[in-house]
Amino acid sequence: MEKKDFRIETLAVQGGYTPENGGPRITPIVQSTTYKYDDVQSVADLFDLKRAGYFYTRLANPTVDALGRKLAAMEGGVGCVCTGSGQAASTLSVTNIARCGDHIVSCATIYGGTFSLFSNTLKKSGIEFTFVQPDATEAEIQAAIRPNTKAIFGETLANPALAVLDIEKFAKVAHANGLPLIVDNTFPPPYLCQPFKWGADIVIHATTKYLDGHATSVGGAVIEKGGFDWTNGKFPDLVEPDESYHGLSYVKNFPQSPYTAKLVAQGIRDYGNIMAPMNAFLTMLGTETLHVRMERHCANALEMARFLESHPCVAWVNYPGLKSSPQYDLAQKYMPKGASGVLTFGLKGGRAAGEKAMNHLKLAAIVVHVADVRTCVLHPASMTHRQLSDADLVAAGVSPDLIRLSVGIENIEDLKADFDQAMRA
Ligand code: PLP
Repeated sequence: MEKKDFRIETLAVQGGYTPENGGPRITPIVQSTTYKYDDVQSVADLFDLKRAGYFYTRLANPTVDALGRKLAAMEGGVGCVCTGSGQAASTLSVTNIARCGDHIVSCATIYGGTFSLFSNTLKKSGIEFTFVQPDATEAEIQAAIRPNTKAIFGETLANPALAVLDIEKFAKVAHANGLPLIVDNTFPPPYLCQPFKWGADIVIHATTKYLDGHATSVGGAVIEKGGFDWTNGKFPDLVEPDESYHGLSYVKNFPQSPYTAKLVAQGIRDYGNIMAPMNAFLTMLGTETLHVRMERHCANALEMARFLESHPCVAWVNYPGLKSSPQYDLAQKYMPKGASGVLTFGLKGGRAAGEKAMNHLKLAAIVVHVADVRTCVLHPASMTHRQLSDADLVAAGVSPDLIRLSVGIENIEDLKADFDQAMRA
């Protein structure tokens, strides 16, 4: 059996690294910036991308590559670049194919940091964005596309709106226009959803979240499915000779994974935001238990959502795994094994009651994080979205009373008891 034929649980445990006879069983941490060679030509060939190998860890590192191979296998892609953060992955996924004067269509329900990147920083760099609602019709998405549009972007399970992306719908419009669909698959990691199966062309991750899963390492990943036609006239930077690499053409020289080759040769080389080897090692460890952890995260979150829904102090609950959720059908289609471990809710006493209840939690912690083994809560209106007025919060899809709860893998009865005492207090 070829390694690529293994199921996702096996790839999670053993993917990315195969020990040689007598070699270390666990992926070694190659904590070295550089690599030694005996002659000049060997290094020159590496610089010219004439052969594979390592010469400087900003470009590539064996530990980081092992994680990249594993994530590509788990998502079902042909290439992966691991980055220093999820933000770096989002940035590079877009700037790899769009430059000043280009345009991207993005789903409006995306992580706040990505929204800020698109609507401020990349906009100032000359890339325009049009935001469409997740429930936009195909005609509405089509109407947002311009002659200079280079991609459609969306988030499988949006943070914190928890809107489920109809990947097939967005992929259909993207492909009808010769565009790739880029999907941020952070919240349902590949064990729960593999967007390539539904038509996505590029998948990105904040590995900081469930893939690491233990809140130890900030990181990101950009994964290429392979097979997209970059020669359709819209992507000359992947086809025409790259003068910064002696005139090589990514589609000709790297026909299997041209997007990944360009991302390393230009993006990582010039912007320099590669993942650190130690973070790759820790993330590699995290992925080994991804499937086991996600089962418990999903089961605990569903039970907690049901508990909160029936609690007298609670005004509303948003969890796509709840039958009462308008997202339920989409969640069942794209995440049949579970709707991940994150939910949002509000208390009957509004924002003030929510803040008070959070202060009374003993087991769940108040942290600016999500998607790790320890249960945690965040109140966007007082923390990540603090600068916004109540009206602006509503416009951003974050009601002033919204508490984001990331359900961990502790005992569910202990968690329910903690929230019950905090809300009653
Ligand atoms: N994408 C999503 C869905 C996220 O939730 C986050 C962070 O919370 C990011 C991207 C950015 O990741 P990082 O914090 O590693 O830069």
